[in-house]
Amino acid sequence: MTIRPLSILPAPVLRKLAEPVITVDDDIRQLMNDMLETMRHEQGLGLAAPQIGVSLRVIVMDCSDEDDPEPMIWKMANPEIIAASDDTARMEEGCLSIPGYRGEVTRPAAVEVKYLDEHGKQQQMQADGLLAACVQHEIDHLNGKLFIDYLSRIKRDMIIRKMTKDARIDRDG
Ligand SMILES: [Zn+2]
Repeated sequence: MTIRPLSILPAPVLRKLAEPVITVDDDIRQLMNDMLETMRHEQGLGLAAPQIGVSLRVIVMDCSDEDDPEPMIWKMANPEIIAASDDTARMEEGCLSIPGYRGEVTRPAAVEVKYLDEHGKQQQMQADGLLAACVQHEIDHLNGKLFIDYLSRIKRDMIIRKMTKDARIDRDG
């Protein structure tokens, strides 16, 4: 497993529609494992492939709880929300691609997701609580959508402006 460099806002890959995975092969499994390694290194709960510069519909999540010995690790190709609750939940979110900023996002409280697992097998997952927010956040990444898009326009524009300025300072030294 390899830790890969993160794509940080305003990297254009973060705004692209990611391509579906055709076959879950060794390359995709390698990608999933690298993503898990990168996510853990950065202490995130989830990661989408565009966040390491790969425009493919792949996400990983680790919502394991210290009090719960059962590991809660997911590796998903082509995840798709097939049902969402009318109930909503408001949660504070952050993103490894937008370091230093957080914001309150309202989403359906529970969702059902279908996806291909690391063996290419069709699976379904029901999620609520933190996991529901996490999987929706990661699937948004595959559609070029970021959590800041749910914030007020003023707040979103302020974050984009600051991140763009930081990127310029990094580039120019
Ligand atoms: Zn994110």
